[in-house]
Amino acid sequence: MKQDVSVPVRTSTGSMTALEFQARTGRGAVPGYLALELSRPLPDVCCRHGRPAVERRPGVVRFHQGTHGRVQSTWATSFFWGLRHYRRMPEGNTELHGDWPVCKRCLWQTLVFRLIGYVFALLGIIAAVALWMAAQAGIIKEIPMLVVLIFFPGWLPCGLVVAASAFGRATRYVRIRPIVDRATVVIRAHPNFAAAVAAQSEVT
Ligand SMILES: [Zn+2]
Repeated sequence: MKQDVSVPVRTSTGSMTALEFQARTGRGAVPGYLALELSRPLPDVCCRHGRPAVERRPGVVRFHQGTHGRVQSTWATSFFWGLRHYRRMPEGNTELHGDWPVCKRCLWQTLVFRLIGYVFALLGIIAAVALWMAAQAGIIKEIPMLVVLIFFPGWLPCGLVVAASAFGRATRYVRIRPIVDRATVVIRAHPNFAAAVAAQSEVT
């Protein structure tokens, strides 16, 4: 069972200049944009599995404005935001920088999800080339309808969605609840991680 673990954060760049903002996000200034960082290093326990960390991966977690706070941007949350806002994509308004502890199992999962991503991305490209070659050879009518359907809507968009979410999941080391204040974030974590954070707070 995952638990809610509050972790202190602080604003990492109090006043980002417009140029810095542009360089970091590739966009013009967004009012209320927040750049946060963890106030202190996380314990050497992975958030997801509660196992001893074997390394720390630096990473930026991005968020967009949801109904109740700033929501972690994943493929799924962006998609559902898009459904509610007539096919637009949510604009990121928060970034959280941190070194995330990862265990052996995390590294293994990262590898598997990357592979899934590559396989799904490549399958469709190979199919597209095959269909194109069949069209060139004038035998496209002989290709069974099923093969065409597997390509569309099978791969485009369904396979691509799987590829995109697999790539996203491969580099997501932490799940964070919507941010409602600037001093803490709430991580959905394994009880062992919760215990390690509690022990850390007792020491300091
Ligand atoms: Zn792990």
